[in-house]
Amino acid sequence: MLPSLSRVSKRLARYLSHSLLPGSCSLCLSSLQASSGVLCQHCIAELPRLTNHCQRCSATLESNLICGSCQRRPPIFGRCISAFHYHSPIDSIILRLKNDPYTADIKPLSAVLAEHIASTYRHAQLPCPETIIPLPLHWLKIAKRGFNQSYIISGLVADHLRRDHGIAVEIRSDICQRRVMGQDQHLLSAKQRLSSIKNAFAVEPSADRKPSADREPSAYKETSAAQPLIGRSVAVVDDVVTTGATANSIASALLRAGAAQVDIWSIARTSWNNSTG
Ligand SMILES: [Zn+2]
Ligand SMILES: [Zn+2]
Repeated sequence: MLPSLSRVSKRLARYLSHSLLPGSCSLCLSSLQASSGVLCQHCIAELPRLTNHCQRCSATLESNLICGSCQRRPPIFGRCISAFHYHSPIDSIILRLKNDPYTADIKPLSAVLAEHIASTYRHAQLPCPETIIPLPLHWLKIAKRGFNQSYIISGLVADHLRRDHGIAVEIRSDICQRRVMGQDQHLLSAKQRLSSIKNAFAVEPSADRKPSADREPSAYKETSAAQPLIGRSVAVVDDVVTTGATANSIASALLRAGAAQVDIWSIARTSWNNSTG
């Protein structure tokens, strides 16, 4: 099923207005220069950045240590790197992105995430993963929405890592598939969340060389070099990490397929604790 013509027209109009016309800050409506992006400097400075957080799961903490939940039961993924609290206006911007892949407001958020990613690995004296995997959507969701918002974020983050921090990464949306439709996680109990997401992801043995059904007609191109997953550190890119259950599920699938380590990068992290692992 393709997106309707009116939906495509709205996306195109929004894209052209952001690209061709100097406008106003989309949050406070103050005027912007054409080269200043889509948010003013004041609004960018006021964004709810994640400061003190668990070094494993990024849940909010009063210190930058490891939270009790991760100490009792370490997550399957290596570390979660998130840039913002899932508060206003981040929640609205992510919602807009899910309806419109040309939402320009996601660009400054992706730049902040790329900066946070680069500084996290630099301070930890660890190499940054060179392969990033947009969190896959089920094919029915792709058919309905027309695109995967995590793919858009991956492209923007990859651009900033390469341009601003000299880190080259490869986007691979063909390695992993989502075989179970996700339900709205906030409507489920912790136990239901775990069972709904368990075994939701699969890595086909030969999938890393197949064309992907999860490929969007966006401006972001994947590199053509097909490299195996085995022995590599990879990062999964998501818009929001809520409980860590989805992150653990895809990390488990990728580790079973031979990845050496799986980290999670997300624009936002909810303030809920990682109680479901
Ligand atoms: Zn503003
Ligand atoms: Zn934690």
